[in-house]
Amino acid sequence: MKEADLMSVDGGYGDTGDWEGRWSHVKTFLERSGPFTHPDFEPSTELLQFLLETCKVLIIGAGGLGCELLKDLALTGFRQIDIIDMDTIDVSNLNRQFLFRSKDVGRPKAEVAADFINSRIPGCNVVPHFKKIQDFSDTFYRQFHIVVCGLDSIIARRWINGMLISLLNFEESTLDPSSIIPLIDGGTEGFKGNSRVILPGMTACIECTLELYPPQINFPMCTIASMPRLPEHCIEYARILQWPKENPFGEGIALDGDDPEHIQWVFQKSLERAAQFNITGITYRLTQGVVKRIIPAVASTNAVIAATCATEVFKIASSAYIPLNNYLVFNDVDGLYTYTFEAERKENCPACSQVPQELQFSPSAKLQEIIDYLTQSASLQMKSPAITATLDGKNKTLYLQTVASIEERTRPNLSKTLKELGLANGQELAVADITTPQTVLFKLQFTS
Ligand SMILES: [Zn+2]
Repeated sequence: MKEADLMSVDGGYGDTGDWEGRWSHVKTFLERSGPFTHPDFEPSTELLQFLLETCKVLIIGAGGLGCELLKDLALTGFRQIDIIDMDTIDVSNLNRQFLFRSKDVGRPKAEVAADFINSRIPGCNVVPHFKKIQDFSDTFYRQFHIVVCGLDSIIARRWINGMLISLLNFEESTLDPSSIIPLIDGGTEGFKGNSRVILPGMTACIECTLELYPPQINFPMCTIASMPRLPEHCIEYARILQWPKENPFGEGIALDGDDPEHIQWVFQKSLERAAQFNITGITYRLTQGVVKRIIPAVASTNAVIAATCATEVFKIASSAYIPLNNYLVFNDVDGLYTYTFEAERKENCPACSQVPQELQFSPSAKLQEIIDYLTQSASLQMKSPAITATLDGKNKTLYLQTVASIEERTRPNLSKTLKELGLANGQELAVADITTPQTVLFKLQFTS
């Protein structure tokens, strides 16, 4: 009799894989109220069904954060999960990307991660996509209730942010709340991390706070050139000054961080430089780290940040608790420090404000100056902006970098003034860039 009971516990619940008590811990959050629940929360048995059967979550990234996110969400009860990653597994991933084994090296991360979770967690239906996020259209993204990012690329973050903003519906400038797909974004760098909750169109988006991503910090050139103190200074000396001067692999051949011979050359030169200044600690590995700007990944930081992100997904999907408002900082470089603050929306955010962007230039400014502004301004940080304008009723490309033949044809425009190009005061310029799925419209304002 006892044995029979156990048997039914093990195998009697059909293809959902559910067994008695499987979700009891989740139910305690969903089926009763408490001092920390959302003021509007109504406990219900239907919420669990929503999580298990209906709620569609998209995870972007199947790396260090992505593995953690997928495991956390699947164990929480989310079953309709899609995961996108364009990378394959490298042996150096195995120390922290725990859904992968040596036998998986070379296979797509998304596929291996999905297989692992689907076979380990009964009832889970993870759909992998071995692709770039840019390969999918708005129709694909619109099917999800929540998007979670575990990315190490700011460009990809900015792109998905722009995509979710483009899905918003406005009725006479009033935002339709049902068109909002919340974006939960986690990021880690060594012992530091952050998590944030973005309700597109309602709370600060990635572009609203772009200034938080400072450009790469470099060592001062005078230190590198004349008074090195650290092994890194010597490596930078070889990389920045000696490489272009000596052209060890031929005239104009750029240093390739993935080419072992290139790294070996920089390594040897750094050792020579270090010997002159009695500096020790240069290794091949460090050389590669400095050249490729590698910041060591810390598994525990990923675990903490993914846990906070997964908690936010649960809170938003269930509406049972008030979500993070809206930015959490975590730092255990020295002791352990964490706090949250409310990042504010930027009134003229190029992505989410619907306010036309202004470009203030003199008519005698050259097109190159606009390009420089678009790439160097802390609030825009574009990568390879392409500018088009409507002139005499025709759509004209003023400059486009990403296609060689068009770049060549439009390059002479860079040294022309805005006036010479026939641009007028108030002219609209459409700017396309890899940081955004949609072109950004700027209005040219002439200064005198
Ligand atoms: Zn914004």
